[in-house]
Amino acid sequence: MGGEPGALLSTGPTQPAPVTTEQVWEALKAVPDPEIPVVSVVDMGMVRAVDVAEGGRAVSVTFTPTFSGCPALHVIRESIGAAVRGLGVQDVTVQSTLTPPWSTDWINEDARERLRQYGIAPPAPAGDDTLITLEPEPTQCPRCGSFDVRMTASFGATLCKRTYVCESCREPFEGFKSV
Ligand SMILES: [Zn+2]
Repeated sequence: MGGEPGALLSTGPTQPAPVTTEQVWEALKAVPDPEIPVVSVVDMGMVRAVDVAEGGRAVSVTFTPTFSGCPALHVIRESIGAAVRGLGVQDVTVQSTLTPPWSTDWINEDARERLRQYGIAPPAPAGDDTLITLEPEPTQCPRCGSFDVRMTASFGATLCKRTYVCESCREPFEGFKSV
């Protein structure tokens, strides 16, 4: 290609470029929730910290699983590690923390809408003080919007979700436990 090799890069052509914290966050936005592929681990608020060290060549990611009972912990850990290594980083540490525990409040607004479209009732915001009510978990049918729903099982396919049936349109659906 001509030019002056090495004029701008002193580290040599085979060394991958160092990454920035922003690039890591961008890569993590492409990591789907293992149970709900329409949202990412970032959408769900699972990624708690990204630390870039060694001048951009070592990355540490801390995440909180959505529910401690979720069986997908190792899947999330491997997916996050693979996404960061995909940026050319070889020194990648992925750790999980349960403190503070994950909250449904950490799900971003955009993801709530996608959850609804996917057919999962988004959780009511746990911290919404306009919703002080005797019923702590108003659950809405994602299909017709009715609140006239009945829980059919304490647990859905996993500990993370509950299954409901809508009394208005008879649609069975899954909902999150608000935590
Ligand atoms: Zn319905």
